[in-house]
Amino acid sequence: MADKDVLIVEDESKIAEVLRDYLVAAGFLVTIVDRGDSAVAEVGQNPPALVILDIMLPGMDGMDVCREIRKFSTVPIIMLTARVEEIDRIIGLELGADDYVCKPFSPREIVARVKAVLRRSRPQSDEPQLTVGPISMDCGTREVTVSGKPVTLTPNEFALLKALMTRPNRVFTRGELLSLVQGYSSDGYERTIDSHIKNLRKKMAENSAEQEFISTVHGVGYKLGDLARASDEECRQSS
Ligand code: CA
Repeated sequence: MADKDVLIVEDESKIAEVLRDYLVAAGFLVTIVDRGDSAVAEVGQNPPALVILDIMLPGMDGMDVCREIRKFSTVPIIMLTARVEEIDRIIGLELGADDYVCKPFSPREIVARVKAVLRRSRPQSDEPQLTVGPISMDCGTREVTVSGKPVTLTPNEFALLKALMTRPNRVFTRGELLSLVQGYSSDGYERTIDSHIKNLRKKMAENSAEQEFISTVHGVGYKLGDLARASDEECRQSS
């Protein structure tokens, strides 16, 4: 089953093997690749359900591997890092990773993260109601509200917002968003995403002008802003 396939990209064989053993025990099918450049090709040829990606790799480092994969795939990626100074970049998810774990880690923790990330990224047919901060979306009726007030969206705007809400904090490239909207990505049309996003922002701002929901990540694409934190700040300011 493809939804059980996990790709581990790690050149330290001991770490990769321990991780594999724990994941296999949890019911996953595991492939190990020990070079960054081969990892990109592997994801292209045998798309896994999730990638566990170390940063220090021969061939191509994990950050570049992540960027390369994001050019053609939305596969969930959990980064492994031994360097605290890398965490900011990963957390900011400018790379388009979904989560990170610091080395040394407990294999049990990784298994838990893998399950959590897969749960979050699964299409929400069993979970028709999405809520992020003040935004709610009913995927069945296609009704969207911001701060409780309805917003009318075109099918493209709906598809874009749904993608962003499914994986908050994850940066989507224009190419990815374009594939979600029209089923494929073609370079010349990526800028059409900008006008859809502009319209989405305008419609949502009518209900909640004080908040910017969709952030532009310069040179990369778009993400849903940190709405939980934004509403905390609002609460503090109003109290
Ligand atoms: Ca390594």
